Amino acid sequence: MSTTIAPSAHLEGLSADQLELQRRAREFVEAVLMPLENEAEENGGRLPEATIEHIKREAIAARLNGGRFAPEHGGQGWSMLEWFLVNEQFGRVTNGLHWHVPSAYNVLMRGTPEQIERYLVPALRGEGGDAYAVTEAEAGSDPAGIAANAVPANGGFRINGEKWFVTSGDVARVLIVMASVVDGDQRLPTLFLVEPQTPGVEFIDNPRFTHNYPHGHPTIGFSDVEVGPEAVIGGVGNGEDLQRAWFTEERLGIATHGLGAMWRLLEESTDWALNRVQGGRRLMDHQGVSFPLADSATDAAVGRLLAVHVAGLVDGGTDPKLIHAKASMAKLFVSEAAGRCADRAVQTFGGRGYMRSNVAERFLRELRVDRIWEGTSEIQRLIISRALERRGVEATIH
Ligand SMILES: Cc1cc2nc3c(=O)[nH]c(=O)nc-3n(C[C@H](O)[C@H](O)[C@H](O)COP(=O)(O)OP(=O)(O)OC[C@H]3O[C@@H](n4cnc5c(N)ncnc54)[C@H](O)[C@@H]3O)c2cc1C
Repeated sequence: MSTTIAPSAHLEGLSADQLELQRRAREFVEAVLMPLENEAEENGGRLPEATIEHIKREAIAARLNGGRFAPEHGGQGWSMLEWFLVNEQFGRVTNGLHWHVPSAYNVLMRGTPEQIERYLVPALRGEGGDAYAVTEAEAGSDPAGIAANAVPANGGFRINGEKWFVTSGDVARVLIVMASVVDGDQRLPTLFLVEPQTPGVEFIDNPRFTHNYPHGHPTIGFSDVEVGPEAVIGGVGNGEDLQRAWFTEERLGIATHGLGAMWRLLEESTDWALNRVQGGRRLMDHQGVSFPLADSATDAAVGRLLAVHVAGLVDGGTDPKLIHAKASMAKLFVSEAAGRCADRAVQTFGGRGYMRSNVAERFLRELRVDRIWEGTSEIQRLIISRALERRGVEATIH
């Protein structure tokens, strides 16, 4: 007979409030989101509007919306560790169902009071979210190739360009668009807030992808899109700085969700291995089954230590330049490990692991993109190897 103890009892220093927050997130995930996974899968990731509204209401009632944003803007003001505890629970769900929990990209924290009032506050109430448009056909891993530009015109800017893979671009109330402001010979990377109804914004394509998630990743064109000066977020030329802070949180977020996925995969596949009998013994009694589970548990535990460490560095105010490479390590390790873990879980379930109704099958497809978006695994290796060179071994690995 197995003994289960609360996982975070091991995570030193959690306060009673933090444990309660984790419990609340876990309850929401298990009671509200998990029962909707199969329906979402069967419907290409989409759920009825009334169901989405229900998820939003439950999330708000459980005070799980708006994470790290300030309470005066409708957020929860969480530390990075608290954000980790909640997002780990969100990661236990397939089909990206936690995307329905009202939130926003962290660059909106740097908005003007007017931008915050217009976009952030409603987003945290669940009234229209944002989408982030950086990637282009010829600029993926190398953002230096970004061709979208913004020419000063009529006191504001005229934007031209085409963005690919704009996650949630099909439902967003505002698009956060990276374009270079043309100033003489200079090209200044700048983020703009562009509403999708603005004349000149065109939805070119909304392709299908491997996963069945709540929103699409459309290709969006910008032809002579005129915006006022108030559309600039964080100042002209500051796009890359804002983006670095965004990447750190997004990469840690991918690691955190991957850890939740590993947790769920281990729960489900361990349970199966303990209860399924073949050849007169439980699957768990065949080392060919139990050893891969042990490898997955080790991957999950190591990844968790690293991610919690990175979250602690953020909360402790460590120089963001040092955290940058560590967030890359967490993303690299966990995204690769979660992929291995899903593959092993499919094998544990045998033929059932190949059915779409099985959590391992869904995660096997869904976790693949974590090695691609927010910088591929190769780009994370590039960042980490540059840190070795610039900051030294000790600062990189300790
Ligand atoms: C489902 C999905 C959602 C996405 N959402 C968004 C979004 O919301 N907003 C957004 O802006 N973008 C988004 N992206 C884009 C994503 O960030 C890019 O796909 C990713 O950065 C890789 O760029 P690329 O596809 O152009 O591949 P490429 O850059 O062409 O890379 C192709 C291959 O070459 C490798 N490679 C490239 N350069 C190097 C190098 N210097 N060293 C070693 N290997 C290298 C890569 O690792 C990769 O394996 C999304 C992508 C997907 C699939």
